[in-house]
Formats: sequence, C-alpha cells, structure tokens
Amino acid sequence: MPHYDPSNIFAKILRGELPAHRIYEDGRALAFMDIMPRAPGHALVIPKAPARNILDIETDDLAYVVQVAQRIARAQMKVFAADGITVQQFNETAGGQVVFHLHMHIIPRHEGVALKPPQSDMEKPEILAEHAERLRAALAG
Ligand code: AMP
Repeated sequence: MPHYDPSNIFAKILRGELPAHRIYEDGRALAFMDIMPRAPGHALVIPKAPARNILDIETDDLAYVVQVAQRIARAQMKVFAADGITVQQFNETAGGQVVFHLHMHIIPRHEGVALKPPQSDMEKPEILAEHAERLRAALAG
C-alpha cells in the first residue's frame, strides 16, 4: 500500500489551506460537509492523524472517528428529519476511495429516496453553509 501523502485535499482542509463547511472540530477529528452530497446533509468525518484509510490508521484514532460520526448521525436525524443514516467508508482505489485521507461518509436518508451517484453534482456553497450551521446548532443544543 502507498504511504500517506500530505498533499491530499483533506490534509489541505485540515491545515486551513482549502475551505470547508465545518460542522465539528476538536483536537482529534474534523467533520465537514461533502461538496458533492449524495443526499442533503451528507457529511464527512476525518481524523487529524495522517492516515490513508482503515488499513493504516491507529485503532484509537479510528474509534474516535466513529464516535464523532455517531454524534453527527444523531444530529442529522433531527436536522434533516431523516428516516435513517447511511455510513460509508472506502479503502484504496479498488475499494472506491478517491481521497486518500481516511474519511467516513455520514448520509441522511429518507424512505424511498435513492442516493445520487458519487461525486455527481457540486452543491451551492450557500446551501452547504446553511446545512453546516444547522448541524452545528443541533450539536451545540
Ligand atoms: P471517496 O474517497 O470515494 O470517499 O470520495 C471522496 C469524497 O470527498 C466525495 O464524496 C467527494 O464529493 C468529497 N470531496 C472531494 N473534495 C472535497 C472537498 N474539497 N470538500 C468536501 N468534500 C470533498
């Protein structure tokens, strides 16, 4: 497996070199909106530790990402009046991974509504900002 490459997009977001619609951040993890959501409210959770995917991440860091993902999922259920949540996590190109910094997709779902294909449409920044703001408020409350 290749080594972690710190020039990936999510490493740049972590360093503040690229913008993101941030939902939650602490010393170990960051959650932000996916710019090409497969459903409204689609969020990503990443570790701050430089891990490529589930194959090289430290177990504690992975467990922490899952903890944050659970908090985001619970907030999404309320904010988007969701019927369910889909969690996805891809590993290496053959596993569907495109960005090589570990991330979990947390996607609100509604009965009978199919997911859009991956990376199909870029969402408007104002919509992503509004969704992030509502999720931040739900997490705070
Ligand atoms: P994958 O590695 O297959 O899980 O796909 C990477 C995901 O990152 C896709 O859902 C993209 O829409 C998303 N993505 C790519 N660039 C950005 C970005 N700058 N900010 C937020 N999400 C992104």
